[in-house]
Amino acid sequence: MAGEDGAAAPEAAQPRADPSPGSGGGGYDGKCVFCRIGRREEPGTALLPCESEGLVCFRDIRPGAPHHYLVVPVEHMGNCKTLKKEHIPLVEKMMEAGKNILQQNNFTDLNDIRMGFHWPPFCSISHLHLHVLAPASQLGFLSRMIYRINSYWFITAEQLIERLQTENAAS
Ligand SMILES: [Zn+2]
Ligand SMILES: [Zn+2]
Repeated sequence: MAGEDGAAAPEAAQPRADPSPGSGGGGYDGKCVFCRIGRREEPGTALLPCESEGLVCFRDIRPGAPHHYLVVPVEHMGNCKTLKKEHIPLVEKMMEAGKNILQQNNFTDLNDIRMGFHWPPFCSISHLHLHVLAPASQLGFLSRMIYRINSYWFITAEQLIERLQTENAAS
């Protein structure tokens, strides 16, 4: 009875994928597109100059604004929900890299930008990535939905840091 559909579902025998950041030691998942991009194994994706060590920047494949970049750690890390307080410096570094990339592309009004993360399960790629959009005032209708502040599917970088800061108090 228990084995009846076992043959049809070989994956069931494997432990569930653990999305905790840094798991896997090597930090590389060959099946993950952002890991491949980080290692320059995706010729279709041009990396933008990014001075922050351990991070890469590139354009979002489906831009939701005139400027839409992604900031991604080279090492594979789980999505924003799996982050802990110790990751605050990383998030800050990603924000810094996002602002730099905007400035390099001649966008300087840093009050008119939106930076944040899709809250699981509302993200298609589990590898941690920061969305950087600008100008925020020019987001199209759909983008205003997808990257909406105070929604349960999108969290701004500032909100995430606040959340991580209070996390220890709760645990
Ligand atoms: Zn990855
Ligand atoms: Zn995303």
